[in-house]
Amino acid sequence: MKAIYIESHGGPEVLTYGERPDPTINSQEVLVRVGAAALNRLDLYTREGGRGLKRDFPPPLILGGDCAGEVVEIGEQVATVKVADRVVVNPRLTCQQCPACLAGRDDLCSRQRFMGSAIDGSYAELVAVPAANVHVIDDSVSYEEAAALPTTFLPVWNMLVRRMQVKAWETVLVLSASAGVGTAAIQVAKNIIGARVIATTSTPEKVAKALALGADEVINYNEEDITERTKEMTGGIGADAVVDHVGADFFSKAFNALRPGGRYGTCGATTGLRSELHLGLLFSQQKEIYGVFMGNKEDMREIVTVLNRGLIRPVVDRVFPLQDAAEAHRAMEETNFFGKLILAP
Ligand SMILES: [Zn+2]
Repeated sequence: MKAIYIESHGGPEVLTYGERPDPTINSQEVLVRVGAAALNRLDLYTREGGRGLKRDFPPPLILGGDCAGEVVEIGEQVATVKVADRVVVNPRLTCQQCPACLAGRDDLCSRQRFMGSAIDGSYAELVAVPAANVHVIDDSVSYEEAAALPTTFLPVWNMLVRRMQVKAWETVLVLSASAGVGTAAIQVAKNIIGARVIATTSTPEKVAKALALGADEVINYNEEDITERTKEMTGGIGADAVVDHVGADFFSKAFNALRPGGRYGTCGATTGLRSELHLGLLFSQQKEIYGVFMGNKEDMREIVTVLNRGLIRPVVDRVFPLQDAAEAHRAMEETNFFGKLILAP
């Protein structure tokens, strides 16, 4: 099959388009013909070998996690999907044996692995995945939209719906509306929970897109102060919850925009991993901080249910042919997009 793989770490130029052996499945796996694969920051970190992702070569590694496509073969013990089903793939594999997995908290699995990082991924014509990691999608959902779903909606669902249990009468501050997680957070907070959404972004064009997606108010952080504007919009009190996936650059501003007793969720740090936390403000204002990483299998099932009902719609910015993966990686590094970048084999 054709695939995009790396044989060394480096810039986009190390992405090689060529032949790799077709994957084979075991009795509990399914083989999926990839219709679309979505780019994630993890793909860039894996390619670079940064953030603890340095690995030994050979063998080559096929990049990519999130994807959607058609089931073309199933293992003999697979009962949940059949050949020709259209499915979305959850790229996070868990052991299904450890105490966390057995307790339904497989998001805490100590032996988790990611497609496209620990094992071959979805920048390919075919992927082999456990049946527990595929979910049937409705005909109304495109492969591009479905591929854009898992890594953006899982952390947001884990954070806002399951852990924080945000309510319809609350206000959620969503940082960086244009990134995949931002577009997911606006939709979950608005369409699923019914909360009021304040989003932040960087240009008038992105402000318009965030409003169109469902944000009630949008702060252009190049022109306005996030803390001051959020307080103004909430009667001087502050937001009830924050969705942060950007990290260092905005942590202080966003943390100070939270009301006393508010919940701060962090699920990524694209602008930097380290930040200073004022402990006095944390304890005196009784704020709560939630560390969030992807979600569990039940979160994924719930998300795909609302996807199939049309309540959420993953945002796709651009679709690149698979062989143009290097160009897509460069586009992601420039951050000049709204929603997800997709590869189509
Ligand atoms: Zn486990």
